Amino acid sequence: MKAKIAILPGDGVGPEIVAEAVKVLDAVARRFGHDFEMMELPVGGAAYDTCGDCLPETTLAACQTADAILLGAVGGPKWDALPPEKRPERRALLGLRAKLGLFANLRPAKVWDALTEASPLKNGIVARGIDLLIVRELTGGAYFGEKRRAADGKSACDTTPYSEREILRVARVAFAAARTRGEGRAPARPCGEGRAPARPCREGRAPARPPKVTSVDKANVLETSRLWRETVTALHASEYSDVELEHMYVDNAAMQLVRDPSRFDVILTENMFGDILSDEASQITGSIGMLPSASLGDARGGLYEPIHGSAPDIAGKGIANPIATILSAAMMLRHSLGLAAEADAVDRAVSDTLAAGVRTQDIALGNDHAAVSTSEMGNAISGALLRT
Ligand code: NAD
Repeated sequence: MKAKIAILPGDGVGPEIVAEAVKVLDAVARRFGHDFEMMELPVGGAAYDTCGDCLPETTLAACQTADAILLGAVGGPKWDALPPEKRPERRALLGLRAKLGLFANLRPAKVWDALTEASPLKNGIVARGIDLLIVRELTGGAYFGEKRRAADGKSACDTTPYSEREILRVARVAFAAARTRGEGRAPARPCGEGRAPARPCREGRAPARPPKVTSVDKANVLETSRLWRETVTALHASEYSDVELEHMYVDNAAMQLVRDPSRFDVILTENMFGDILSDEASQITGSIGMLPSASLGDARGGLYEPIHGSAPDIAGKGIANPIATILSAAMMLRHSLGLAAEADAVDRAVSDTLAAGVRTQDIALGNDHAAVSTSEMGNAISGALLRT
């Protein structure tokens, strides 16, 4: 197939990790006979330095006509002093989401078999399995609500608006994702005691779990959360009663994520809660350098990016983990280009590479594994893809 992909490397480690994902996409194109037209475009602080705008019109226009967008990360100390509306995070990230109508953010978090030791949780908890999907509302709530600062600068206010329409459309994404995950789900892993095995049992004795959505809110104190809960409950009853639904307060969800993450399948939540919970979910899987994301709207394209930021502390050192970006490219193949077999091949290449002991510094545990560079990890994964 032919596809136009907008490539937005951005700032900090962005160009380093995106280069490796492009390498993997090139390998996919070679192996499966596709023609990917990849257009590299400026965004973030890098774009501000050259064009005076973190989201230049030409970049936005190219993204609007692309079949999909792959983004590295934006921001860094160099641009922190810019006025808020010009900063990379606000102008480029929130701007792209708003202008492209990307209202649903999908963040899968799982522990890879070869990386169970990287989780900071006790092995007995990890052995029960961590494989969840956070569906976060992306264009509403406090991040987009009206903001005010008093004239004397001593008090401030952020509003958190949500409409029934905004809740319904993201809730539909979450219920549909739960159904899809339910179809392909491996049996839940049996509960283990003590240290997790290097490769936890795939052929669990427990039966496959039914699809489940946990809707996270703060309905005991927030009016928007009460609307959220009512709307999700009504949608579930009318269209998705085959999916299990539970409601949970966000403070409890934060606790349950470290106490027993295996209880979650799909977590549906609003913008700010999702931002915070997905970082927590990333950490329990081992490294933020492993977690991809997809941002989807009603239109055909989608935006794919690692969940981490520009990591200025390690930028330019060639040690960033490119796997989150490579897995984001796999999500792009699956969700925007309809190439499920190709996406599976990338996931398998990552799994095989990790199983072979190849590790970047963030996931090289102690002295067991010598760390490879960002580009060596990209080479290993594209090599594995071409070999299988
Ligand atoms: P960060 O995610 O960039 O870094 C947090 C920690 O994780 C750092 O120690 C970093 O070295 C490490 N890390 C991140 N990605 C890694 C990778 N691929 N491999 C190995 N280690 C990795 O978060 P931060 O430091 O809070 O933010 C830095 C900048 O990024 C800020 O300007 C922030 O606003 C911006 N940011 C951008 C995005 C985005 O573009 N989507 C998201 C979050 C933060």
